[in-house]
Amino acid sequence: MQFVPALETSAVTLTHPESQYVTVDKPGIFFSGKIHKYEHVYINGIRMYPERNGAFSYSISLKSGENIVAVQSKELFGKTHTITYHITFQKAVKRPNQNVFLQSEKAYYQTTKDDVVMRSTPVDAGMNRLGYLPNNTKLVVDGTFNEFSRVYLSEDNYGWVFTKNIKIVPKETKPETAKAENKTNIKPVKQTETVTKKEVKTAEPEKENVEEKAEPTFEYKPVTVTDTNTFKTVHDETFVIQLSDNAPYSAIVDNNKLVVTVYNVDSKSETYKKTFNLGKFPRYSVCMKDGVLYVIQKKVPFTKQTYSNRKVLIVIDPGHGGQERGAVGCFGDIEKNLNLKVALELRKYLEKANFRVRMTRETDKFMTLNDRVKFGQDNDALFFISIHLNSVPISSNPNLNEGTVVFYFNPQGEELAKTLAQSISTALKVKNEGASQASFAVIRPTEYIGVLAELAYLVNPKDVRVYRSMHFARTSARAIYNGLVKYINEVLK
Ligand SMILES: [Zn+2]
Repeated sequence: MQFVPALETSAVTLTHPESQYVTVDKPGIFFSGKIHKYEHVYINGIRMYPERNGAFSYSISLKSGENIVAVQSKELFGKTHTITYHITFQKAVKRPNQNVFLQSEKAYYQTTKDDVVMRSTPVDAGMNRLGYLPNNTKLVVDGTFNEFSRVYLSEDNYGWVFTKNIKIVPKETKPETAKAENKTNIKPVKQTETVTKKEVKTAEPEKENVEEKAEPTFEYKPVTVTDTNTFKTVHDETFVIQLSDNAPYSAIVDNNKLVVTVYNVDSKSETYKKTFNLGKFPRYSVCMKDGVLYVIQKKVPFTKQTYSNRKVLIVIDPGHGGQERGAVGCFGDIEKNLNLKVALELRKYLEKANFRVRMTRETDKFMTLNDRVKFGQDNDALFFISIHLNSVPISSNPNLNEGTVVFYFNPQGEELAKTLAQSISTALKVKNEGASQASFAVIRPTEYIGVLAELAYLVNPKDVRVYRSMHFARTSARAIYNGLVKYINEVLK
């Protein structure tokens, strides 16, 4: 797939912005592209000075409304071209967040889908994930904050879930009532009752209202822990907590210990807590299903004595693909292609050293983030390495962002991220931006050690030279390989 620049003359190729008519929601925009040798290019009258290879990025600030930006190119012995960009700066119209907690009476709600994220704060981002609740988990809700509902966990302890992912539990379907009805076999009677009630409702609506008010207020029904068990296999150790029903829980890593807490439990503290030692190479998963909480700790498939590269499975994940092209560079280079090139080189290095390797994609195909995660989990990866090149939002200044940064989410990924950032930036001779924690889907799982490497910036004129060099893919791949081997030698063995 070729990238078509918005402007291409013999003097200049402009790759950003991608169209002459752009609307942005922040007061800035950058122009980037390539200026051909000996040509002069001006943006709003200011001369652009590119890097030696011709790459340039230039950031301008915008006033509210429409901004006219003239890009002028003067060929050495030729004509002058002028092209006009119409950049409209319009603040995003967000639905006003009230940012107040609206308390309501406690009521039972239940989740309406699997994997509802429960968070420690009412913010849809960052490191605040407590646990993933299955469908039909009952939650005591006592208020809302913006688009979140507050979940009562234990005294002075709350979680937050999206209001859109829960619904109120109707009184009739309370498990106790249902059981009682089943036992006494009064189902047909109930049906007749409903009909009668309806008739009453149409006839005497006021009386019905009075009846509703007289209904008993919220009745808290905590779950019970009925059993706990440990199951061991050669590959893993599973701790099972059996409950009378699904319940809210959290799984938090603290000082290399995994603390799993089940809430709304009928004990004095209203919680059931269990701490697991994670060891130096933690791989685990925590999930709840049908009233059972599973804590699975995977064993490292070797000891210091039995280690061989053959026992290490690495999933390489070339970012983007297919219709999702990723970012675009100053010269129109497309991120997904560069990612794949590096990934294929990396596979060669790893396989040559006898590591086992799987790739989420080997061709230019689209893959969802969930599929990538599942691929890593299904293949029982020890490491998951996602390969990307970086970009900046159109309103930022590309000249201020350069070099390598490697992201991790779980604490166990930090050391590898640091080692890789060091190794890659040294090999590519770019700035080392180090390791950084970020909540990206592919590095969130705890079953593998996941990192996402942003090798260099596509729109930084200095970095352009790096990723356009002939040996970029091989140099990056070797650097990742060396970093990984260093990490394995220092941490794993
Ligand atoms: Zn990317």
